[in-house]
Formats: sequence, C-alpha cells, structure tokens
Amino acid sequence: MKIGAHISIAKGYKQMVKDALSIKANTFQFFSRNPRGSKSKEVSPEELIEFHNLLKENNFAEVLVHAPYTMNLCSEKKETREVSFNMLFDDLRKMEFYPNNLYNFHPGSKLKQDLETAVSQISSALNKALFEGMKTTVLLETMAGKGSEVGKTFNEIKSIIDKVELKSNIGVCIDTCHIWDGGYDIVNDLDGVLKEFDEIIGLKYLKAIHINDSLNPINSHKDRHALIGEGNIGLDAFKKIINHPHLKDKPFFLETPTDLEGHKKEIEMLKSYYN
Ligand code: FE
Ligand code: FE
Ligand code: ZN
Repeated sequence: MKIGAHISIAKGYKQMVKDALSIKANTFQFFSRNPRGSKSKEVSPEELIEFHNLLKENNFAEVLVHAPYTMNLCSEKKETREVSFNMLFDDLRKMEFYPNNLYNFHPGSKLKQDLETAVSQISSALNKALFEGMKTTVLLETMAGKGSEVGKTFNEIKSIIDKVELKSNIGVCIDTCHIWDGGYDIVNDLDGVLKEFDEIIGLKYLKAIHINDSLNPINSHKDRHALIGEGNIGLDAFKKIINHPHLKDKPFFLETPTDLEGHKKEIEMLKSYYN
C-alpha cells in the first residue's frame, strides 16, 4: 500500500524524509512553498538532487507536491493570475531535479467570472507551463465547491483536461472529503461514483487520493476535514475505498487535522485494513 500524510517543509527537505519515515509512510505530500504566501525559500539544485537521492534510497513511492493555496490561475485579477502562473512555472522546473513525482493544485476560484472563462484561463496557464519531456505529472484536485471554486464536479475537471495539450502529463487527485462535500456518495455508491469518474474523465487520469473524512454531510460544500472514521464518511467507507480495485494501487495522502503522531496511528490503522 502506498500511504503517507501531509508533512511540513518548514525544516527543510531532509527533515521531511525523516518525518515521513518516522510515521512509517512510504510516500508523503508537502507544500512547494508557504501555503498562504507565494515566496519559496531559495533552494539549490544540489539540495533538490540530494532530496531525490534520499527518496530513492528509502524506496519512497511517488511523492505529491502541493501548490500553495494562494495560487489561483483563474482569478479575475490579472496580477493574481500572473503571480500564480509564475509559481506554477517555477515549481515545475524545480521538480525536474527530483523526477517522476506528482504536483497537485486547486483549479482555482473564478470569483465573478463565468466558468468558461475560468476553464480557459486554467488550461492556457497549463499549456504555457507544461513542457514536452517533463517528468512530473500535474494533478487537478477535485474540490468541495466552497465559494466559487472550480473543479467541484467531474465535468468541470474534464473541461479543463480537454483543453490541455500535453495530456500525458496531466491527471486528477480525488480528495474524499471534497467529493463527498461536493455531492458524490462514496459511502453508499462508491462503484457508481468511480463509474461516473471513468465515463466523464477516464480512470487513466486518476493518479492520487487525498484520504480525509468530512465534518459535514454530503453535498455541504464546506471542505472541513475530519480524522479517518470520525466524520460523516466513516471507517467502513474508508475500508472499501483503500481496497477498491480502481483505487488500491494509487498513492493515498492523509490531510487530516492531526500531528505526526496522529498520522502515524492513522497510517497503521489503514494498513491493517488493507488487503
Ligand atoms: Fe488541496
Ligand atoms: Fe485535498
Ligand atoms: Zn480540503
């Protein structure tokens, strides 16, 4: 089973690897830079290559780099779109120093713009930032539909992918809390939800799962994560999710509201239910 959690990058790349190993994770997620800002600490190519070597030596599965929350490729403000594009561009070039990993971002919040405008802003940013021969796969995260978030339905995600030229380097990250909050009944009809995903987007695009319980009922569009088994999705549903034939080989990343010790317990528990 490929499983890990969100780990803080605050103390550097080396410490992240140590933290991940300490909770018995074989993958992990981290922010490419300050999640609420746009500045990334200067990091040298040497440090990134060292990180790459540490990942290989310790047999980590593909890791997931999460773009900062401030990145909004479909903002109605041109300046925000430009700052966001620069972060995407810069993050992807850094990731070439530790190839064959995943980069995840929130499609964005369209504010007062129409969906069509937002979709073309997102896809054109991707078409400018992605490049032939790149080693990273860029993932669109499924969203809860809070405010004016884009990506709250499989159709919205599909409409972005349709306009991306480099389809070999694009994918989707399903967040279980988000799709539940977005109205997809993964508790009573996981097969149906995945069938719908396959028909609309295509399962070949599914590259990672954010595994989170939800504090709120289905269709609430709230996006408040809960510990596994302590929310409205519930432990039985997660036992089915991690063992579903379409999901079981994907990397799972916990983004539950707890610390390293808490994530260690969740990882241990999920592994014990994994067939
Ligand atoms: Fe996210
Ligand atoms: Fe998420
Ligand atoms: Zn969330």
